[in-house]
Amino acid sequence: MDKNLKQLFRTKHPYSATKRDEAYFLAAIGAACRDFMVRSPQYRKICRQYGFTPKDLRGMKDLQKLPPLPTAYLKRSDISVPHRHIIEVTSSGTGGRVSRMQYSLSELLSLAHMAIRLGREHHLFSIRPTHYIMLGYQPRRDNQTVISKTAFLSSFYAPPLSHTYALKYRDGAYHADLDGVRKRMEELRRQRRPVRIIGFPAYLYFLLEEMKKRNLKYRMPKGSKILLGGGWKQFGAQEIPKEELFALAEERLGIGKQDIHEFFSAAEHPVLYCSCPNHHFHIPAYGRVLIRDVRTLEPVEKGKTGIINLITPLHSNLPIVSILTDDLGCVRPGSACGCGIKSDYLEIYGRVGVQGVKTCAGGAQEKLRDGADGKG
Ligand SMILES: [Zn+2]
Repeated sequence: MDKNLKQLFRTKHPYSATKRDEAYFLAAIGAACRDFMVRSPQYRKICRQYGFTPKDLRGMKDLQKLPPLPTAYLKRSDISVPHRHIIEVTSSGTGGRVSRMQYSLSELLSLAHMAIRLGREHHLFSIRPTHYIMLGYQPRRDNQTVISKTAFLSSFYAPPLSHTYALKYRDGAYHADLDGVRKRMEELRRQRRPVRIIGFPAYLYFLLEEMKKRNLKYRMPKGSKILLGGGWKQFGAQEIPKEELFALAEERLGIGKQDIHEFFSAAEHPVLYCSCPNHHFHIPAYGRVLIRDVRTLEPVEKGKTGIINLITPLHSNLPIVSILTDDLGCVRPGSACGCGIKSDYLEIYGRVGVQGVKTCAGGAQEKLRDGADGKG
């Protein structure tokens, strides 16, 4: 494994990147690109088409020169390279095709260093045994989605006493059992151990709405927390502003905004973004975020909205160094938050929905396909 990458993921300063960490970042990105250019003919063609070589990476500003690969493009298998791995995870894949990401033991250890460091920064660790309510998938051997694995792993920030799942596997498919979860929470409020509710915000919303309809209030024991991640997915149409969701959680469960943590990550970008006390996603040392114009795909300045481009040197079987998401967002200076964390923060506005914008992101993919298939 690249030694710069190893050093970067062992940083003690995830939010105040030192010059040394920046140097590790750039060197690790360069090493990952070089490796992929040697081993993947498809990636080599794409880099040539963009006129990019790893030698172009002289400073952090040059990260914008990396060819940004749309996440949909990574679902094609012909860009992956053989990779010594001990785990394979997949993206959630609502439309059929998924990307398969493979990680070696040393890469997983780097991710573990990141999760532990960020857990400390955000006070997620507790020694008090805790009951977990998992608003997500019950783990199964053949469920390799990143979201099911990370949700399960995040239940180790405090020693688990029990796990209750909202999505249970029965007769060959997952079924939502929110009433079972609600009943379990009714039991848990009567005991003294803290409760952690982990999972998709949509399920938390459905649960709280149901409680409101029935006029139920379950005050959770002291020290309880809510950890949200994974977005609204297929329930996008029902999405409510997070302030409303937080108010509902306080009203129904007695869990205040200060005990609600949000997480953002992607199968193709395994960097963890944890919300700060003001509920902003500051960008940690392990990744960088560029915002690109929806029409030209040129990087835009801080404070402007565009398509989110995520960058990390973490290695896998896919060239995930620079990926273009389907999400719109904006990067703001750290000082605009006020929580004390210095690094810039990312605001995510959700899926690119406007027709014209869609064609442009699709156009970037078309461009790559033409180039990679030998026409360019
Ligand atoms: Zn902040």
